[in-house]
Amino acid sequence: MTEKAKKPAKETPVYSLVRASRCYNCDAKQEPGSIVKFEPGKDEREIRCRKCASLEEMEFLRSGNAKVTQMAKKYSQRVVLVMQWSELWKTYERIGLLVESQAIDRIEKELKIRFENRETKQIH
Ligand SMILES: [Zn+2]
Repeated sequence: MTEKAKKPAKETPVYSLVRASRCYNCDAKQEPGSIVKFEPGKDEREIRCRKCASLEEMEFLRSGNAKVTQMAKKYSQRVVLVMQWSELWKTYERIGLLVESQAIDRIEKELKIRFENRETKQIH
């Protein structure tokens, strides 16, 4: 008997900043490249930092490796798309995913690889 994999609830995408900004909620400075939450088109100044958007436990996984992305989606309970504005295409492009750290740990173990610049491994 086959059981359909439970699909996690669709989460709103988050955005990687191109320019430095500040969190609308807690005023924390956000460097370019910071992942924040906001509603494009509505009011892009109303950004929420990862802490305020409850995304602290999540880790960024850059797209590029289809196998890794697929595994991350399978292992992580929460999967959030990360988009970034492209000056070239004048549109938001998908650059990766936010997934749970434990999902990335599991991929590293199973594929016997090490992801460089892991966020959680930098906090010491
Ligand atoms: Zn904040």
